[in-house]
Amino acid sequence: MIIAVASGKGGTGKTTVATNLALALQNSVYLDCDVEEPNGHLFLKPVVEKSETVTRPVPRINYTKCDFCGECSRVCESHAITVLPNRVLVFDELCNSCGACTYFCPQNAIWEEKIPMGVIRIGKVLPENIGFFEGCLTIGELSPSPLIGKVVQKIEPEKINILDAAPGASCSMIETVRNADYCLLITEPTPFGLNDLELAVEALKNIEVPFGIVINKARSDSTIIDAYCEDNNIPILMRFPFNRRLAEAYSKGELAVRVFPELKEQFQNLFNEIKLRLQTSVNVLDG
Ligand code: SF4
Ligand code: SF4
Repeated sequence: MIIAVASGKGGTGKTTVATNLALALQNSVYLDCDVEEPNGHLFLKPVVEKSETVTRPVPRINYTKCDFCGECSRVCESHAITVLPNRVLVFDELCNSCGACTYFCPQNAIWEEKIPMGVIRIGKVLPENIGFFEGCLTIGELSPSPLIGKVVQKIEPEKINILDAAPGASCSMIETVRNADYCLLITEPTPFGLNDLELAVEALKNIEVPFGIVINKARSDSTIIDAYCEDNNIPILMRFPFNRRLAEAYSKGELAVRVFPELKEQFQNLFNEIKLRLQTSVNVLDG
């Protein structure tokens, strides 16, 4: 099973839920797909066993063949190649590695160099023996999606995979969540939280991934998210109340389910609720 954990904006407790859920379950794998700012490792403190460098191809010019015709520049929609009278300039940071310039060069004068675009760190969280994968984008790389795709390829189908998505309703979030069986959207009971939640909900409806809500810092005197979910028939699967001791544990990089073992059952119940909803939806489709 693949469960993505996302949020309309940063700082809502997305990684808190993703890491605690992974730790509360047996036979789980945590994959940090928030490759521009991965921080699950701060809480899970994995033993890293190896790192894999992820590369992408960028064009390089063979000047013994190039006649400076300019075709490569014309076909490049990213404006990543400029042809001068006696030189071809390639701007790696603008290049999206589509390969069009290589394909269309009439002189076969372009070869491709592989440059690093990021790293995937692979390890284990002990003693629970949780699988750990983390994508980390190279500074200056403009497109996180290819690296996210590589992290997602590490999914272990026979296990429970928790994907920690980038915040917001951006391409990065979609690139992660579209691979999931179910998505948890984490939000806070504030007008800002609701505004960003609405954007994330629209994105999830477009890619047709089933989802439910977790309210972080839930307060009995704020029903703004409850009213929205009721109006839109969206299930609220868990409420994570504000708790000073929890906040202190978080600030020290400690995981809630380790500090408060009673929370483990709540996260296991959350998983069981997701499983039930997926089974029910399959039964409805079968019926
Ligand atoms: S298309 Fe090929 S031959 Fe023409 S300028 Fe570009 S690299 Fe040189
Ligand atoms: S690989 Fe694509 S994006 Fe990069 S320079 Fe060539 S045409 Fe442009």
